[in-house]
Amino acid sequence: MSGESATGLLMWDEAVTRYDFGPSHPMDPVRLALTMGLVRAFGLDRAMEVRAAPAAGDSTLRLVHREDYVAAVREVSEDPGVADGSYGLGTMDDPAFHGMHEASALIAGQSVAGAEALWHGEVEHAVNFAGGLHHAMPGGAAGFCVYNDASLAIARLLELGAERVAYVDVDVHHGDGVQAAFWDDPRVLTISMHEHPRTLFPQTGWPEETGGPEAEGSAVNIALPAGTGDEGWLRAFHAVVPELLADFGPQVLVTQHGADTHFEDPLAHLAVSLDAQRAVQEACHRLAHEYADGRWLALGGGGYAVVDVVPRSWTHLVGIAAHRPVDPQAAVPASWRDEVYARTRQLAPARMTDGRTPSWPDWDAGYDPADRTDQAVLATRRAVFPLRGMLT
Ligand SMILES: [Zn+2]
Ligand SMILES: [Zn+2]
Repeated sequence: MSGESATGLLMWDEAVTRYDFGPSHPMDPVRLALTMGLVRAFGLDRAMEVRAAPAAGDSTLRLVHREDYVAAVREVSEDPGVADGSYGLGTMDDPAFHGMHEASALIAGQSVAGAEALWHGEVEHAVNFAGGLHHAMPGGAAGFCVYNDASLAIARLLELGAERVAYVDVDVHHGDGVQAAFWDDPRVLTISMHEHPRTLFPQTGWPEETGGPEAEGSAVNIALPAGTGDEGWLRAFHAVVPELLADFGPQVLVTQHGADTHFEDPLAHLAVSLDAQRAVQEACHRLAHEYADGRWLALGGGGYAVVDVVPRSWTHLVGIAAHRPVDPQAAVPASWRDEVYARTRQLAPARMTDGRTPSWPDWDAGYDPADRTDQAVLATRRAVFPLRGMLT
């Protein structure tokens, strides 16, 4: 099915795979192509409307990014050889490449168009798994991110008249760029759950970061100890996020689903399974219906186990947003396994599960002050909840 009958929008233009920092960079765009391949193998492209939006134009980029930064991106995009590290361009993390501006603006355009469609009531849910580039700052590239599509989508919603937008980021890294963009704006509640800044880039996202003087309590950070697994990760999410959303009452929920929390991810140190990632995706979907009239923009993000983890995780995300969730027990279609082998010479996983059945002890049943996950949750609740007039 397509068009009016679909409740959800899947933003996709093959050209987003031109967001490519080169062969030795961990953010291999094959992860996007393989995700779309797996989405198609499960027929989910027929359960959502697949739409390609135009690249974000200058007036949109300017909602978040400084004019001189956009000009610098354009310059290195035409001639990558001139990138010298200024504006974060031409660094190890963000090497310049030909067409960088166009590919980055195209990804941003998908998130912005998804947000517009939700706001206008065209669809309830929109997914852009190529997006979630949450480290990009108003005036510079950082952490594999050039333009901050998440911030741009939120800024566009505000421009259209939204008064309360909630952003929930479960990437293993702190959503620092989105937090920075709305640091002093009480209309945007940013919640990031990540590995503790003591052990991971970008070394921010401490619980004490709670928003600027005009927006105290609008930034929320849950900093989890390295090694946190399914139970702790899910417990922390449920001990913080639902209460805050209930209190804030967002008109739109924007979520970032970086898959780099996974135990196989090479760049970080949490130990989360695909099954727990899927459980949080389902929770975000439920929370969107419960607190945001169903308006849900779901984005991708990090994820560097590009064959074993990312495509399965985000295919689950698309299935959930399409109201056609993929059974974790489902076998991975043989056609996709062949595609994986042809493209990467690696063997694809066989099932849509890691074989875990995630569960977690409910926060309301009590906590253990000696437990490190509970200490992290307490630090967040104590830092933020009183600022919002909520009980810790
Ligand atoms: Zn990440
Ligand atoms: Zn729904």
